[in-house]
Amino acid sequence: MQLDLYPVPARILVIAAHPDDIEIGAGGSIASWTDAGAEVQFCIVTDGSAGSNDPDYDKAALIQRRIHEQREAAAVIGVHTVHHLGYPDGTLQPTLELRRDLTRLIRQFRPNRVVIMDPTLKMLNDNEDFHYINHPDHVAAGEAALYAIFPSAETRPIFPELLAKGLEPHHVDEVYLMLAQDANIAVDISAQMERKQQSIRCHVSQLREDEIDFFSKWDRQIGAAVGVEYAEPFKVMRFIRA
Ligand SMILES: [Zn+2]
Repeated sequence: MQLDLYPVPARILVIAAHPDDIEIGAGGSIASWTDAGAEVQFCIVTDGSAGSNDPDYDKAALIQRRIHEQREAAAVIGVHTVHHLGYPDGTLQPTLELRRDLTRLIRQFRPNRVVIMDPTLKMLNDNEDFHYINHPDHVAAGEAALYAIFPSAETRPIFPELLAKGLEPHHVDEVYLMLAQDANIAVDISAQMERKQQSIRCHVSQLREDEIDFFSKWDRQIGAAVGVEYAEPFKVMRFIRA
């Protein structure tokens, strides 16, 4: 793994399945990019409505609460535009409809870099102390986003209904996979760590303090691997055209 020394581009789109995924996986990096002057927008694919096991919960109220929490969390790390696609939480599929929705956003905002979830990560079971089944919504959001970036966003004949609305093809230069398997790049977030934690804490309906401690330990481990205090790992792919 190497420290991220790539220049911060002008526009960055971050696509995730649930409210809170982005702050956990990339909150510090995003704060560092907005600090550097980038315009960053978020797209949350699901409505977050499965974020409660309380038999008496008010689904509509939870959806509204999580939109509010997400907006507050984004603002802490310098992001003021959050798109909510509103797909039902927990049963997401990488459909053509979702791919078209994400292609529409990419063609509208025209980001240089898109940050997505890793569609190849199904589970982690190689460490005796830590077993993890990746949420299938993460995999589905990651796959739809990956194929929205390529080929859908940059290929004129795909989704002609978008072209008919004046949305011209757009080529994305860089893809950053967050919470990724085989990460190759780490972003130094030492100066942004406090804001990252503050942004995670905005998701009051979802997170416990011990979970926040767990995430910061992980960021410290990644930091140690690249010689800084705290860092976030990504698998980075670059397709920059001369
Ligand atoms: Zn999630």
